[in-house]
Amino acid sequence: MEANIYNIPLLLFTDEMSIDLASLPLAVDNCLILADIYPDFLKKIIFFTLKRNKQNQYFKALKQENVKLTSDLIATKNLFKTIINNTSTLVWMCDAIGNTTFFNQAWNRVLDRENETKLNSNWMVNIHPQDLANCEFEFKQSLAKSTGFKINYRLKILNQKYCWISNYAVPQFSLEGKFKGLVGYCFDITSLKKTEQKLIQRAASDRLLAQITQKIHASLELEQILQTTVDEVKQFLLAEKIQINRVEETKQLTLLVESRLVDSPLSCDISEPKQVPETLFQKNIACLASGSIVSQNFDESSPDQARACSTLLIPIMAEAKLWGVICVENCSIDREWNLEEINLLERVALELSVAIKQAKLYQQLEQANQELQQLSVMDSLTQIANRRKFDQYIAQEWIRLSREQSPLALILCDIDYFKLYNDTYGHPAGDRCLVEVAQAISKVTKRPSDLVARYGGEEFVLVLPQTPIAGAKYLAQQIRLQVQSLKIPHLRSSVDLYVTISLGVSSCLPHPDFDFEVLVAAADQGLYQAKERGRNQAVEYGIELY
Ligand code: GH3
Ligand code: MG
Ligand code: MG
Repeated sequence: MEANIYNIPLLLFTDEMSIDLASLPLAVDNCLILADIYPDFLKKIIFFTLKRNKQNQYFKALKQENVKLTSDLIATKNLFKTIINNTSTLVWMCDAIGNTTFFNQAWNRVLDRENETKLNSNWMVNIHPQDLANCEFEFKQSLAKSTGFKINYRLKILNQKYCWISNYAVPQFSLEGKFKGLVGYCFDITSLKKTEQKLIQRAASDRLLAQITQKIHASLELEQILQTTVDEVKQFLLAEKIQINRVEETKQLTLLVESRLVDSPLSCDISEPKQVPETLFQKNIACLASGSIVSQNFDESSPDQARACSTLLIPIMAEAKLWGVICVENCSIDREWNLEEINLLERVALELSVAIKQAKLYQQLEQANQELQQLSVMDSLTQIANRRKFDQYIAQEWIRLSREQSPLALILCDIDYFKLYNDTYGHPAGDRCLVEVAQAISKVTKRPSDLVARYGGEEFVLVLPQTPIAGAKYLAQQIRLQVQSLKIPHLRSSVDLYVTISLGVSSCLPHPDFDFEVLVAAADQGLYQAKERGRNQAVEYGIELY
């Protein structure tokens, strides 16, 4: 208590009853004027007066404190109001049965406050239909259990766009512990959600790309790679149609592969595989050839079916040229392709460039291998099979026909006096002669299973599966006549004016216990005898293996 002169109680003892109190310089409140004084009574009065005075002072102080507290409370309330109404956080309150009792001013930014009454009764009207059920459930649960909640959902705001909201609610209780309702705080987490979605999409597109890359590496079949790619990319983008078109030399498009969303709305005609609109491609060919993407809402405005297709054309480059185009289309609903999707398609196109290069290299390698294979079994001079091919083929046929118990015939041909031919006409002329004779012999054989090979030097051999001796002998005569009919002059030959050949013929039922060499040896014996008997003739030499 303040030490104030006015707070000090004053006792005035006097026998003068008519004292003018106003003349005293002191307040009369604390003044007691006594005339007849009895000691005990006086004592009581003094105590009583002191006590009352003390009480008065206490009540006064209490009153002052009360005034201060009230003013502090008002200040705090105002401060709270200022904070609540100036924060960007959306604050709300509801009572124990869920009726909204308060919205702060931040809600003005997002909701139509003119309809506040309506809004208060049903604040859920602006929640995205897909999120509504969960919101209702959480809210009701929270009220029923007197607990808080945290829900993320989409809320339609004034510009009719949805934003992502994170809504935290905290339960409120009275001093007696009775549930009073909820206080909620909502934060706009749209950008956070977008980043999160971007990250998820990026991870998914990375995964898809890894899968496609893996498939590209696992397969060398370009068509298979392209088909897998369109199927998987379509699934990822949920695009109605995706194609890969080849850009021909003539700058026309040829459809290579296509994939369509099975459950896409029927407004997109899926009965006929239709190529990407040529005009759109032709209009943007320069842009595509420079490796840039074309994104457009293409108006397929035919009179009966005017509709806009959200189309993306992604160039596939190979060896710095426009190899093809990935075409992604959405016809039933207008669709904006986002950056992540475009980025994925660009990366897919890049992978396909690698696959195309790889497939081309593989094709070249295959061709080179085939050529090498051909070369390894072909005689370079005469272009017929060589000795190696003969060895492989006769061994294979010997086994096969021994199983089938079918005859295998062999004819050995040898040019007569070829040494003399070379000596007379020169080695190059000898080579030309060998080529002509080889062609003549080849002409005679008709069956695909017959093999004509150069056996060595000026000797040729024919392997004739399923041919008995009579057939082989007939063929040998045909060959001899065919060569003679070439009429290649051979002045120093003792048998004719032209180049002739001698032939040894043999045929047998191959036996698995014998080597095919026995057949070769028999034909060789026939050839030997043909030479002995004067050349330009075919001699058969029989063998029995059974
Ligand atoms: P015969 O009537 O007994 O068969 O007598 P021939 O002279 O034909 O037989 P010989 O074995 O004595 O000679 C074969 C000749 O074939 C010897 C060789 O110079 C020639 N010759 C072998 N290979 C080639 C070749 O690739 N080109 C040429 N121009 N000649 C070849
Ligand atoms: Mg010879
Ligand atoms: Mg000869």
